[in-house]
Amino acid sequence: MQYYSTNRQVPPSTLRDAVFKGLADDGGLYMPERIPQLGSDFFTGLHKKTFREIAFEAAAALFGEDIAAAPLRHIIDDALNFDIPLVKVSSRIYSLELFHGPTMAFKDVGARFLARMMQYLTRNENAETNVLVATSGDTGSAVANGFLGVEGITVTVLYPKGLVSKIQEAQFTTLGQNIRALEVQGAFDDCQRLVKQAFLDKSLRAQRTLTSANSINLARFIPQAFYYFWGWAQMPKDSEIVACVPSGNFGNLTAGLLAQRMGLPLKHFIAANNVNDIFLKYLQTAKFSPRPSIPTIANAMDVGNPSNFARIMDLYGNDHAKAAAAISGYSYSDAQIRETVQRVFAEAHYLLDPHGACAYEALHEYLQNDKEAKGFFLETAHPAKFKETMDGIPGADVAIPGKLQAFMRGKKQTAIISNRYEDFKAFLLSS
Ligand SMILES: *Cc1c(COP(=O)(O)O)cnc(C)c1O
Repeated sequence: MQYYSTNRQVPPSTLRDAVFKGLADDGGLYMPERIPQLGSDFFTGLHKKTFREIAFEAAAALFGEDIAAAPLRHIIDDALNFDIPLVKVSSRIYSLELFHGPTMAFKDVGARFLARMMQYLTRNENAETNVLVATSGDTGSAVANGFLGVEGITVTVLYPKGLVSKIQEAQFTTLGQNIRALEVQGAFDDCQRLVKQAFLDKSLRAQRTLTSANSINLARFIPQAFYYFWGWAQMPKDSEIVACVPSGNFGNLTAGLLAQRMGLPLKHFIAANNVNDIFLKYLQTAKFSPRPSIPTIANAMDVGNPSNFARIMDLYGNDHAKAAAAISGYSYSDAQIRETVQRVFAEAHYLLDPHGACAYEALHEYLQNDKEAKGFFLETAHPAKFKETMDGIPGADVAIPGKLQAFMRGKKQTAIISNRYEDFKAFLLSS
């Protein structure tokens, strides 16, 4: 399978090049040149299969030309080694809980798959692959934990010293093994600049194999399609089914659209936003106007220029009417998010995190106008990850799960560097 750039200014790439480049040379995002179709047989038997079997069959349709069945099955079983339960919240609303992985957020799915895909694609090469990540918090933990213990790959996480929450910091500084954390004396922008400069440094690249694990990487994006098949399979089949996704960069929602294109009979998609409602504005006005992001309590969705917009446009041939017919949008303020968390806990005894709360509310609102359908929303993080916010909501007490506590007990292992590129380069070359 070849992968083309959504900007179509460069020739298509192989799977290996697309995964290691991340972004195409013309600045576009990679898409598979063909979207494989899964027949009706596949869907009839779906509810009898496990999540990993379903994921393997969908992955084989997409990656089968490039990866043989046995190693692909191994990648899937190793990457997706946690449960994704579908929980009934109210008569027509279900929660697909994507937060049972190591960092308790859905990005574990994409990051773990990408790590094992990279390992497979470089299995015959001797050079160690260096993944460089700049983080202001969450990306670092998903990527570091995704690559933890994956042979042949070293991850260096750069983060601004003193500017990351304790629990986030613990999730990527206590791991050891092939994960190194660098505390940069500067801001997040300095971390990003250092990583960018390293990628542009020819003398460094002659000595080290560098790559990123960016959220737009196709091997992070595609595996997110698998759990839509699984979610649909668990739903009652007495009505049409819709899916609602709390969205920031829109990778998760776009993966759902891909699953639908592969044949999954989802009736409609709902994009839930916080007040960063650039996509909702696009649906309403046909104009895409990125703007600086506004901080909210659903902060993983604080995105002012959603990068996967290019993939959505590509799927709908840049046709606003088609996109707007397939996807509805809703947006909620922090006050509305808090109110939803409180109300749903009181009524259904289900504790939403702020991101899932946006999605629950959007699905609830959508279903008022579509009385026939039932839906599931993606619950993308465990509420304990946002303990400070949750503590401010009456009734929404949340205990820190053992998995998160274990990170806090780990020993912090970091090196401190200045914000000068020479120091970063010396660090990379010394190890
Ligand atoms: C990243 C993230 C999102 C947004 O996902 P996108 O694919 O960027 O739209 C939503 N919720 C949580 C908890 C996240 O970490």
